[in-house]
Amino acid sequence: MLTDAPPNKANREGFLESDRIKTLETPPDGRLLAITKSIESAMKNGTNADVRRACAEFLATASEFYRVPACCIRVLAARPLRVRENWSTELFGDYTPQTMVIRVWMRTAVRREITSFGTFLSTLCHEFCHHLDFQRFGFSDSWHTRGFYERAAALYHCARGTPPKKLFWLPTSGGRWRIDWPRTNRSL
Ligand SMILES: [Zn+2]
Repeated sequence: MLTDAPPNKANREGFLESDRIKTLETPPDGRLLAITKSIESAMKNGTNADVRRACAEFLATASEFYRVPACCIRVLAARPLRVRENWSTELFGDYTPQTMVIRVWMRTAVRREITSFGTFLSTLCHEFCHHLDFQRFGFSDSWHTRGFYERAAALYHCARGTPPKKLFWLPTSGGRWRIDWPRTNRSL
């Protein structure tokens, strides 16, 4: 995981705020976890429509909890050959703020390998956090800041029922940060 470089002056304030917000409250009961399990079984035994239905339920439940407008979901069989890459290079999904549509795909483009459940769920949480950036935090853009990744991780661990992990970061060039995986994994 690598953060975006800080933007120019006009957007810098929002970027820094996004970077600062490192926690995200999550639904306290197991409601996301129950839906997550249905996504997992739909991926194993169901059709694309079953996966889509379970993802839609996940997003509706999360949107209700965060009091944001519901976003739509499209589950694609394979990654489109042409993916619009605006602020990001997303390997397994994308989000369009204007239409509030999340797309996730079940297979990678080149080798047609099935996206693992963990990666799929992580992508769903990641894209939903882009939705939150616009609809809950009111940012003018949705940057991949350290805070963004921390919020996405908090949602993922809640949805997966796994203990939250403290993320450690290392500075790289251009004001960007990358995860210090050895240190992050050691801290478990
Ligand atoms: Zn992203």
